[in-house]
Amino acid sequence: MLARASMERHGGSMAFPIKSTLVLAAISLLASCSGPTLAQGGGSYGRDYWGHRPGPKGFKTVIIDAGHGGKDPGAISRHTGQKEKDLTLEMAGRIRKELGGFKTILLRSNDSFVDLDDRVKFANRYGDAVLVSMHFNSGPAHVRGPETYYWRVDSHGLAVRLQRAMENASPSESANRGLVRRRLRLTRNPEIPCVLIEGGYLSNAGESKLIQSPAYRQKLASAIAGAIRSQSANGDAGTGPLPKPINAPMSRPTDAKE
Ligand SMILES: [Zn+2]
Repeated sequence: MLARASMERHGGSMAFPIKSTLVLAAISLLASCSGPTLAQGGGSYGRDYWGHRPGPKGFKTVIIDAGHGGKDPGAISRHTGQKEKDLTLEMAGRIRKELGGFKTILLRSNDSFVDLDDRVKFANRYGDAVLVSMHFNSGPAHVRGPETYYWRVDSHGLAVRLQRAMENASPSESANRGLVRRRLRLTRNPEIPCVLIEGGYLSNAGESKLIQSPAYRQKLASAIAGAIRSQSANGDAGTGPLPKPINAPMSRPTDAKE
């Protein structure tokens, strides 16, 4: 579930017209290359304010963010009683175990509250890394299925891979939003590629019961880890054209709510 205050409208502010022209020129140069060529030069792209660049290849560090925690339970299933904050923490551990060979960092490893801005600051301590924020969803009773949120151009390939992998692991979907480009504090503000994933709807009776099963959570964790591995091995190859760069400012807690 996304924090309501962090839901924002799409669309960019052109507050930096000169800089944005330069950035757009640089991107159009990059975009004129073919996929595999973009990934040449190895893995580390370091930190980048806008994220107007191809997705990373060859990264070895994965920051796993278990959504919510402490005083913030996130969504609570009325079907199973499970809390999103517990499920995300448990999933973070499973994903970590599936990522042997990578350096994995858990943004929280217990039931503690960590402010979203502090999560961003933590992620920005790393350069050659990606951030994956794990959540479970809540909405109308009939809606089910995984969703993936990204904003930065350099996060698109990883987002496509994560959504595909979770859809393959999920037995059915209904009226869910799929892959969404949305500016959130955890999809815009980190200066590394960052994606927020919703592993399914706790508000849907069938999906909530499925998520209650450790075997299903393991299947989901394995799919998520596979998508991360695939991005590191292949870069953006096979994930479709990059989205257009948008010079949107950093997302703030006080931004307009939807
Ligand atoms: Zn959430």
